[in-house]
Amino acid sequence: MVDVITLGELLIDFVPTVSGVTLIDAPAFKKAPGGAPANVAAGLVKLGVSSAFLGKVGDDAFGLFLKATLDQSGVDTRGLVFSQDARTALAFVSLRADGEREFMFYRHPSADMLFSPEEVAVDLIRAAKILHIGSISLISEPSRSATLTALKVARQQGLLVSYDPNLRLMLWPDAPAAKKDVLSIWDQTHLVKVSVEELFFLTGVEDLDRAVEALWHDDLRLFVVTLGADGCRYYTPRIKGQVQGFNVQAVDTTGAGDGFVAGLLMGLLNHPAAWHEDHVLRDVCRVANAVGALTTTQRGAIPALPTKSQVEAFLQAAEPGYEGPTNKASLG
Ligand code: ADP
Repeated sequence: MVDVITLGELLIDFVPTVSGVTLIDAPAFKKAPGGAPANVAAGLVKLGVSSAFLGKVGDDAFGLFLKATLDQSGVDTRGLVFSQDARTALAFVSLRADGEREFMFYRHPSADMLFSPEEVAVDLIRAAKILHIGSISLISEPSRSATLTALKVARQQGLLVSYDPNLRLMLWPDAPAAKKDVLSIWDQTHLVKVSVEELFFLTGVEDLDRAVEALWHDDLRLFVVTLGADGCRYYTPRIKGQVQGFNVQAVDTTGAGDGFVAGLLMGLLNHPAAWHEDHVLRDVCRVANAVGALTTTQRGAIPALPTKSQVEAFLQAAEPGYEGPTNKASLG
């Protein structure tokens, strides 16, 4: 039995061996494990929370590498299946000198897109507390139906449903299709995390409070908007506020949002009162900001995700003597 189930894409990121180049100019690429839901699962284990990843990879060297990576991270992979019909997805990703990220995907189709409803480990979901998903598995069938099956089981069983769309626009035929798919499960979620750019894309509204209001629904317990180095804003049915980010030397922001989500879910699991009490929720967001910030200080996603003791040491150094509820109960 694990506390958190994440479901979705698991793929190989090919990252240039030198930084600041376009994909055209990159001389060589290094393989790295990728896929936001899998990063969240690995991040949770590092923070001391048990997790399982559900999804599909190819029955090939890259699929085996990804399974081994998750196994070594301590993520439960009983719900990871292998496809005989398609290869593990690949994404060539470069951070150009102008700061823009360039992506090129090999998914025609890839194994993750073939994850089917019959392959969803419903027993693992039934025994968990949180289901966390993204939107990439919603793009095409059968992975869309697999995601909807997991959602249905989670809701029937009373799990908390957490959603980080992690929009990759170029994977959809066009922007309206992306918006429609991302919002198609919106009213089935209890917790959503979006970046400020995603929020504006989804609503067309450039005022944060008004944009959140436009996407609010009755089942939502927490809506978090991440603001990069500026931290995050949080909204519940009763309270809202902003928690400033940490000042760090960021070298690679890959996985920051996933680390943030892992920190947030850890805090919410350890602090049932966080939903209702402003000071506890602020503290949970502060820890999530710390996990996100620390993830930017090293290259890659999974290798950069911090452990619980690293987060603890970072928070102590940032604010010596700080004795917030999260420091005592979640991290202590
Ligand atoms: P995403 O990676 O999903 O686009 P963000 O870039 O907003 O999301 O980052 C998620 C979180 O990670 C932020 O809310 C913040 O806590 C932390 N973070 C991201 N970039 C930085 C940075 N440069 N410095 C400090 N913290 C950061």
